[in-house]
Amino acid sequence: MTATAQDNIVLPGGAVGVLGGGQLGRMLAIAAKRMGYRLHVLDPVADCPTAHCGDYQATHPYDDAYAVRKFAETADVLTFEFENVPAETLEAITKVRAIHPSPRVLHTCRHRVREKEFLRDDAGVPVAPFHVCRSADDVAAGMEKLGAPCILKTAEFGYDGKGQVRIDDPAQAADAWRQLDPPEAVLEGFVPFDREMSIIIARTADGQTACFPAAENEHANHILDVTIAPARVSDATQAAAVDIATRIAERFDLIGVLAVELFLVKQNGAEQLIVNELAPRPHNSGHYTFDACVTSQFEQQLRAVCGLPLGDPSLLRPAAAMANLLGGLWFNDAGEPAEPDWPALLALPDVKLHLYGKHEARPGRKMGHLVAMADTPDEARAKVIAARDALKR
Ligand code: AMP
Repeated sequence: MTATAQDNIVLPGGAVGVLGGGQLGRMLAIAAKRMGYRLHVLDPVADCPTAHCGDYQATHPYDDAYAVRKFAETADVLTFEFENVPAETLEAITKVRAIHPSPRVLHTCRHRVREKEFLRDDAGVPVAPFHVCRSADDVAAGMEKLGAPCILKTAEFGYDGKGQVRIDDPAQAADAWRQLDPPEAVLEGFVPFDREMSIIIARTADGQTACFPAAENEHANHILDVTIAPARVSDATQAAAVDIATRIAERFDLIGVLAVELFLVKQNGAEQLIVNELAPRPHNSGHYTFDACVTSQFEQQLRAVCGLPLGDPSLLRPAAAMANLLGGLWFNDAGEPAEPDWPALLALPDVKLHLYGKHEARPGRKMGHLVAMADTPDEARAKVIAARDALKR
C-alpha cells in the first residue's frame, strides 16, 4: 500500500516521522510497524533505540533546520518523543508537514513558567502556589509569600529531579539561586502529598478523548521506579483526574498524547488532586499500557497524529504494575559489571520484559521495564517488584 494523506488522515502504509530516538520512539515504532506504518526517526546519535525498530534514521542535530526539514519531507506526519526540540526546528517542519502535538503545546510544556501559568490561568486546574523568579531577591520575596519549605525549579531543561532544589529556610534563598544559576525559575510551595499519580490522555483533531486509568507512581532517587494502575484512590478521584486531563487537553486543542503528573493530597479524609507538570507525549508512567490495556499509549499517539479514531484504553486485567530496569541492575553488589539474571526472570510466565536496546548500562539510565498484571493493584505491585528482584546478581 502506498502512503495516503487525505483530509489529514495518514492511513496504514504511510510514514510517521518522530523527533527523538529513545525508548518512547522505539515503542511508538513497534506500535506503528504492527499496524503497517513506516517509521522514520531523527536523532543525532546513530543506531538509536528507535532506529532498531523503525525503517529509516536521519542522523542530524536537532538544530540543523535544513536537515530537519529534509527529514520532515520523508514522512507524511510528524511527532516527537521529547520536549527540547528548538523552536526554529519546529518552524522548519511546519513549513512542509504537520507535527502533533502542535508547536504551541510544546512551547508551553517545556518551560515551567509558561506551563504553570497556562495550568492556572487558561486551564483553571489546581497547581501548587508559585512565584516566578529571575533573581535571588525574587526567591527571597517568594519565600516570604509562600512560606517554607519551598522548591526552586529551573524554568527549562529540568528532568528526574535535576534542576531543582528544596529550600527549608529563607536564609538559603541566595545559595539555592546560585546553585541552579538559571535565567528564570519557578519557586513552588511544598505540597504535603500523600502519593504521586499521573493520568495519560489522548485527543484527536475532532475532539475525541480517551484517558487511561490514573496510576500511582513511586520514585527512587528522583527517578520513576514503579507505577501501579489503577491508582488506589476513590472513584471520585479517578473521575477528577479525567476531568483535569480533559480540561488541559481541550484548552491546548491537543492532537496526540499528554501525560499529567499529579499530587494526591489527603485532608480530613478528603482527596484532592494538584497538577505538578505536563509531558505532551507518552510517558514512563504509561508503559504499563503496552501489555495491560486494549490499546497502548503508543498506539493512541499513532492513532491521534494519523487522524484515526482512538482505541479502547481499558485495562485487560483488573490491575497492572510496571517496574523500571535501571542500569544499576547490570552491576553486582561489588560494583562489577554483571548481566542481570534473565533466566530467573523469564521463568516467570506472566511477567512481560521490555528492553530498549541500549548498548551501555550506566547507573540511573533507563534500560527497560517489566509489566505484571493481577487481580488487585497490591498484587500487581508485589509481583513486578519480586520479578525485578529476581534479576539481581
Ligand atoms: P518535578 O521535576 O517537578 O516532577 O519534581 C520532581 C519530584 O520532586 C516530584 O516527583 C516530587 O516528588 C517532588 N516535588 C516537586 N514539586 C514539589 C512540590 N511543590 N511539593 C512537594 N514535592 C515536590
